[in-house]
Formats: sequence, structure tokens, C-alpha cells
Amino acid sequence: MLALRLPLEGVETSFPDEDACRRRLAEVHWSNEPSCIRCASRDIGYLKTRDMFRCKSCGYQFSHRIGTPLEGAHVHLRTWFHFAEIIIISYAYSPAESWRAGSSLRATLKLSHATVVKRRRYLRETLMEPDGGFVGRCICPEQVALPAGIEPGTMAHFSWAQEAVIDRFLRRPPRLPPDRARSSPD
Ligand SMILES: [Zn+2]
Repeated sequence: MLALRLPLEGVETSFPDEDACRRRLAEVHWSNEPSCIRCASRDIGYLKTRDMFRCKSCGYQFSHRIGTPLEGAHVHLRTWFHFAEIIIISYAYSPAESWRAGSSLRATLKLSHATVVKRRRYLRETLMEPDGGFVGRCICPEQVALPAGIEPGTMAHFSWAQEAVIDRFLRRPPRLPPDRARSSPD
């Protein structure tokens, strides 16, 4: 279940800025080795001022999103990651309810209604793909080991996953900032 593979600290901490999201995108899309989409060369430089890759063989410049499903979507990567995280967690809680929170999504993500509707449709579809699709693979790096004796895809697997989600998101005590954690009684 995708929710169990989200980073424990959440997207907010694991991907603290747009740069971190770009690095993750390159890791998932190119295994960290960008290649030119025109000539396939792997001799690629990065133009920091333009935030573009540049092929040293043919001079072609391309963005980090090119060739990914997020190409052409003018929303920050971090917003995409947050959006997907919200959908994954709400789906884990309640599949039937997970698609309804349009107004809270607009406020949290600071997106227009039209953008929320369009992006949510895409995310709903891609996150259902095996392994969570491209965005799922970006934000769910953790591997989840099934307990011994539980076969993937069985009812036992489903029950175990349900319990693990409850354990992770409901029973786990919230992380406190260091100063409060130190002063709290044991
Ligand atoms: Zn090239």
C-alpha cells in the first residue's frame, strides 16, 4: 500500500524545497543520469541561471521535467508532491471519501479550482498504477517488507496493510519539536 511507503517525515520535511524535488525527479526519471532527448548523449551540463539541462554534444537545452508525465504542467513540483501525499493518505483512510476534499485542497495547495480538478484527476489515475505511477515513485521511496507468512495480494495482506496504516497515521505519536520533546514528561 502506497501510504506505507511515504517518507515517515512527510513530503514537507523530506523534500524541503523545489531543488530537492528536482533531484528526486531526476533520480526516478533518469536514475540520476540525464540524457539528451535529441541525441541521447549522457554528457549533460546544468544551467543554474535558466534551470535547464544543456547537452554538451549537440547544445540542446531541456527542462528537468521533459519526458516525464509532469512535463507541461505549470505547477511547482513540490505542490505536486504535496498534492499526491494528501490523496494517498486520504485514500488510505477512506477510499470513498478521498476524492471530495476540493475546497481544502485549494486552500492547502493554493491552487485554483480548475487546476485542482485537472491535477487531481491525473493523480487519481496515476497513483492507481502499479507502484504508484511516476509521482508515486517520486514521493514513496520507502520499501515495505511484508511480515513472514503473508502472501502479496491476499486478504491477509490487505488486513495487515489496513492495520499498518492505522498504526502509522493514527497511533504513532506526533513528532514534537526538539525543545518540547526534551521537556515533556516520560
Ligand atoms: Zn544532445
